[in-house]
Amino acid sequence: MNCLFCKIVKKEIPAKIIYEDERVLAFEDVNPQAPAHSLVIPKKHISTSLDITAEDNELIGHMFQTANKIAQDKNIAGSGFRLVMNCNSDAGQTVFHIHLHLLGGRIMHWPPG
Ligand code: AMP
Ligand code: ZN
Repeated sequence: MNCLFCKIVKKEIPAKIIYEDERVLAFEDVNPQAPAHSLVIPKKHISTSLDITAEDNELIGHMFQTANKIAQDKNIAGSGFRLVMNCNSDAGQTVFHIHLHLLGGRIMHWPPG
């Protein structure tokens, strides 16, 4: 399988890793859309949010808890941040290994573009 984020998990492609444990990896987005823009991914390959199953429930919760921890470490938890997971083409998904975007450090607009 030719998956960019699986290659980052396997350290075949470099990334600025900010958190890692046995289930998830977090790293800085290479093309940041906000002063803080990190990605939290499961080490397990899951292509889109549509492919999440009940056996992933704990893993998905752990992704959110990891994002919360990073937001706290970056001192953007109190001011606020946005968690986004794009699914398929209308949402603009470009990497088909699920990832939680953690965006912060500026005011976010709503509705999103
Ligand atoms: P999405 O459009 O939701 O699939 O998001 C994919 C994200 O991955 C984009 O924000 C890209 O900037 C980011 N990205 C792509 N390649 C890399 C990479 N090698 N390292 C870090 N982030 C990346
Ligand atoms: Zn993958």
